[in-house]
Amino acid sequence: MDERTPAANVLEIDGLKTYIRLSRSTVRAVDGVSLHIAPGETLGLVGESGCGKTITGMSVMKLLPPGGRIVEGTIKLNGRDIVPLPDKTMREVRGNVVSVIFQDPMTSLNPTMTIGDQIGEALRIHREVGDKEARERVLDVLGLVGMPRPAERINDYPHQLSGGLRQRCVIAMALVCEPSLVIADEPTTALDVTIQSQILDLLDELRRRLRMAVLLITHDMGVIAGRADRVAVMYAGKIVEEASTRTLFKRMRHRYTEALVEAIPRLDQETSAELYSIPGLPPDLANPPEACRFAARCRFDTEICHNEYPAFSEHEPGHLYACHHPAGVDEPVEAAAQ
Ligand code: SF4
Repeated sequence: MDERTPAANVLEIDGLKTYIRLSRSTVRAVDGVSLHIAPGETLGLVGESGCGKTITGMSVMKLLPPGGRIVEGTIKLNGRDIVPLPDKTMREVRGNVVSVIFQDPMTSLNPTMTIGDQIGEALRIHREVGDKEARERVLDVLGLVGMPRPAERINDYPHQLSGGLRQRCVIAMALVCEPSLVIADEPTTALDVTIQSQILDLLDELRRRLRMAVLLITHDMGVIAGRADRVAVMYAGKIVEEASTRTLFKRMRHRYTEALVEAIPRLDQETSAELYSIPGLPPDLANPPEACRFAARCRFDTEICHNEYPAFSEHEPGHLYACHHPAGVDEPVEAAAQ
């Protein structure tokens, strides 16, 4: 099956450009991004901080920072383009069709409200249910996200819970109206490693059980491995490589993807070996280069990389990338997959 055209996608982004106007310049935070996610599928959106991942997710919520504006492209949620929708209509979409899980549960939760009231708020807004029905649904969803003794916890305030339990509450808030799409933006970065794994397992299980589409945004390639069905690698406002997770880890082509994977610490690495980090910084997105945006940091750059933007296209079935000198293309695909 053509991985680019599943029967019915929950999310279809086409040619999205989201710019942020500052006092003296305009930052091209998202610069021509196209993505799709099918029901029950997890797409990992990966890249360094500041590459435009979060602004892509926030564009789908239409919750942009001051000066932020979608200047071009379409964002279809269950077939409806939300870009032209007024804010009043977007309030019906947020939390109902699409919801978001942020990185830090402490800033996502209101410290003055009980967790039961916060989780039930979306139900009261979107489903117009009464207090009794909302409480029952909140207890159900707290059970679903693995909150121990939900009936005792429902009246707790966020400060009475551990970081892991608070993040379970944030997930419960995101799921209570059973949205078609959940955007999980660095959902475990603020948690310790064992809790990270539990929360990612939980998201995965809920995604399967509820057939939600998930956009998993992270800077950490290790989080993507084994969790996402497909991966889109983003650099300096553009998608530079997209493939199934299996293909990407076996036959990554873009030199930026290769560098990201190389930067993951390995258990079999010599303890005295220096950890690899990508040299330099991403380009200024107020004035990005016309050619390959990674060229100034790439070990494989040649003249053409500094003069021409490489075409982003499907070079292999289901595998898209934009690189003049892709990794491993001289090796037969079967050999590279060993
Ligand atoms: S196009 Fe050139 S500079 Fe850019 S990633 Fe590929 S090899 Fe490196």
